[in-house]
Amino acid sequence: MTRILANDGVTAGCKVALENAGFEVSLENVPQGKLNEELKNFDVILVRSATQVRKETIDACPNLKLIGRGGVGMDNIDVEYAKEKGIEVINTPAASSASVGELVFAHLFGMARFLPDSNRTMPLEGETRFKELKKKFSKGVELRGKTLGIIGIGRIGQATAKIALGVGMKVIATDPYIDDITIDVEINGQANLVDIKTIEFNELLKQSDYITIHVPGGDKPVIGKKQFDMMKDGVGVVNCARGGVINEVNLVKAIEAGKVAYAGLDVFENEPKPAMQVLMNDKISLTPHIGAATHEAQDRIGMELADKIIAFFGN
Ligand code: NAD
Repeated sequence: MTRILANDGVTAGCKVALENAGFEVSLENVPQGKLNEELKNFDVILVRSATQVRKETIDACPNLKLIGRGGVGMDNIDVEYAKEKGIEVINTPAASSASVGELVFAHLFGMARFLPDSNRTMPLEGETRFKELKKKFSKGVELRGKTLGIIGIGRIGQATAKIALGVGMKVIATDPYIDDITIDVEINGQANLVDIKTIEFNELLKQSDYITIHVPGGDKPVIGKKQFDMMKDGVGVVNCARGGVINEVNLVKAIEAGKVAYAGLDVFENEPKPAMQVLMNDKISLTPHIGAATHEAQDRIGMELADKIIAFFGN
């Protein structure tokens, strides 16, 4: 029988689907230090971001046939080395796109009506300074009719565009590898196809009222001082991609200079210890890297993993 160690856990649906297909699934959480020994008894390891599957583990476990990552980033797996050894490596890149897109909008709607600052201030001053706070937070805006610039129109960029179009925003996008894209804004089960032609990066910076970034992480920030300078005054910026994609020092300076009115960050340069200047800034809407963390995404991740494993072993 093919034995699977789901070291960082899997959804109940995934476990049942695999067991129904004849696999044995262990949910034991083997500590990293004992993994090389324990994994010898398994054919498959499933991980999320916690467990590391490094060269030493791969060398120590000759029975290993498949490594599955529930989620996108594979920083915790020596992917190339595993593939060289003939081990299949899979992940679930599409399962969480809609969840990340919705989190982008949680940040956007929140910032347009000052919810981050209001939520910090109301518990302290709501009882004593209600009228002052009402005045302070009364200059909100509607998203409808505003231009959302999407940097990177891949899976999550498209999921975000879909919501933006539904909200009534104008969507523009830039992507060096995509010239045009058709978004299906499904409404009440009916398809509504919207074509978007990508534009130059600098043009997007100049035209957008809000900017959201959905590129893979790289060595250099995509948005730094030069790019902030090109944006409209009062722009809102969201990063739910990877820490470092936006230069945080430049972001805080752009907020202080009034160039950026507000920002939303789910990811940080220095995770898991984000910079204090970022955490304490009342113009920044903050979440602790939860873009993919919804029940629905977890269910889809589980089912995508199960389907891929079943297909691989031909059960
Ligand atoms: P994807 O590969 O589907 O799309 C990325 C797009 O970015 C591609 O179309 C690519 O051509 C484009 N791109 C690359 N470099 C670019 C550049 N310099 N300028 C403009 N476009 C560029 O990836 P995805 O699934 O949409 O994921 C996007 C990001 O979201 C990744 O960084 C991923 O790690 C991150 N992510 C975050 C969370 C979270 O919890 N916040 C969850 C899942 C994914």
